Amino acid sequence: MARSRERIVVLGGGAGGLELVCALSEKSGLDVTLVDVCGTHIWKPRLHEFAAGTVSSTLSEMSFYLLAAKRGFRFEQGCVTTIDRKAQTVRLAPVTSHDGAIEGPGRSIPYDRLVIALGGVTPDFGTEGVKEYAIRLDRKEDAEIFRDRFVASLLKARETGEPARISIIGSGATGTELAAHLRMAERGFITEAVLSRDQRLLDILILEAAPEIMPGASSELRRAVLERLGTLDIATRSGAKIAGIEAEAVLAEDGERWPTDIAVWAAGLVGNPCLKDLCDFEMDKKQRIVVDPCLKVPNDERIYVMGDAASFRPSPDSDPLPPTAQCASQQAAYLAKAIPEAVAGGRPGQFEFNDQGRLLSFASGGSVGSINLFRSKQDLLVRGQFATAAYHSIQRRHQWAVLGYLLGTVAIFADAISPTKGPALKLHG
Ligand SMILES: Cc1cc2nc3c(=O)[nH]c(=O)nc-3n(C[C@H](O)[C@H](O)[C@H](O)COP(=O)(O)OP(=O)(O)OC[C@H]3O[C@@H](n4cnc5c(N)ncnc54)[C@H](O)[C@@H]3O)c2cc1C
Repeated sequence: MARSRERIVVLGGGAGGLELVCALSEKSGLDVTLVDVCGTHIWKPRLHEFAAGTVSSTLSEMSFYLLAAKRGFRFEQGCVTTIDRKAQTVRLAPVTSHDGAIEGPGRSIPYDRLVIALGGVTPDFGTEGVKEYAIRLDRKEDAEIFRDRFVASLLKARETGEPARISIIGSGATGTELAAHLRMAERGFITEAVLSRDQRLLDILILEAAPEIMPGASSELRRAVLERLGTLDIATRSGAKIAGIEAEAVLAEDGERWPTDIAVWAAGLVGNPCLKDLCDFEMDKKQRIVVDPCLKVPNDERIYVMGDAASFRPSPDSDPLPPTAQCASQQAAYLAKAIPEAVAGGRPGQFEFNDQGRLLSFASGGSVGSINLFRSKQDLLVRGQFATAAYHSIQRRHQWAVLGYLLGTVAIFADAISPTKGPALKLHG
């Protein structure tokens, strides 16, 4: 019997992939399958908040199985290993239980059209000791490992009177926001005894290799960020080229050494290492798959790539777009229209990125950012309540896109009134 529905398979249910499957499953004539190695979706832009403990991960975590049942797509859990373009199948590795006792079988998933949305990772650039001694915030497990060490080091600091030393390498959004949230989480550990001893629990240092912190930001935004970091008593050091990380220190190329209890490596983002082994795709120097103006790989009409996994140039002479949830979300919205149009035999227009700006949230230090109003060439510096609302709006839109307006609004409301945000690591003693 002839198949009537086009099989669309989306690999990766992150910021972009999940929005796309939810939108596609509303269209008729499509049979939509999502594949992810995890059983739950996590909103990655808040990973540093889970790590700091200033928000509970349950607020932003959703089961793919339940979402699939609710939104009408199929979900297959497994790690994508290869794509066979000729056979039009994706290979998934076997799924093994944590204790290794039970193994679910590996599988091949057939597709008519495929979307790769497998995200990116923080590269170590071959720096010695990063793998062994530093934490990179790429997955929920990383945030949990960090939090575990963070709690132990603060308890130790309270006992010994010696502040815990946290070094964050990289002064982009992840590094600076994490630092601010750590300062907020510290409050949960301050007891009357600590106050009476006028004791510090946490020394935070941000190290940046570039001559100025927040490379790429406008000088206005940089000044505003530095001002906030200063208010939060967070030290910064630019021009710090890191040679290696040891168990208890960060080392600079010029021999300087910063004693450290926890090192966080937050220096940039490249494509997921699994991308290069998937198939015969062209890769850029940041390990992302090169795509054409319609987000398709140049050697296959049926394969699209989006989000952090894609190397998309808005024009032939411009740099590829940086990896952001903002971009992944816009690409999801584009593909949600372009794919059904292509299936119906049409020729969809090209993807156009609308840069809405850059926003940062410093917990108790407030929010700041530069936004691009009405696609003007001039960015506008924003602060205070407006910046905070704009910062949260990207996750709000994600919640609506994934849960629908009614449930999305309930989730947003629950988030707003939740007692598990703020200094969630509150301990008594
Ligand atoms: C701490 C932090 C803060 C950030 N803050 C912001 C911000 O404020 N604003 C902003 O715009 N962006 C921010 N970002 C960047 C943003 O999170 C990413 O750009 C965005 O998540 C990319 O979306 P994506 O869909 O491409 O990939 P991801 O969201 O990374 O999703 C990839 C998915 O693929 C799955 N996967 C990976 N490998 C496999 C495999 N082999 N097989 C099966 N599944 C697999 C993963 O489980 C995941 O679900 C932040 C990132 C971090 C880490």
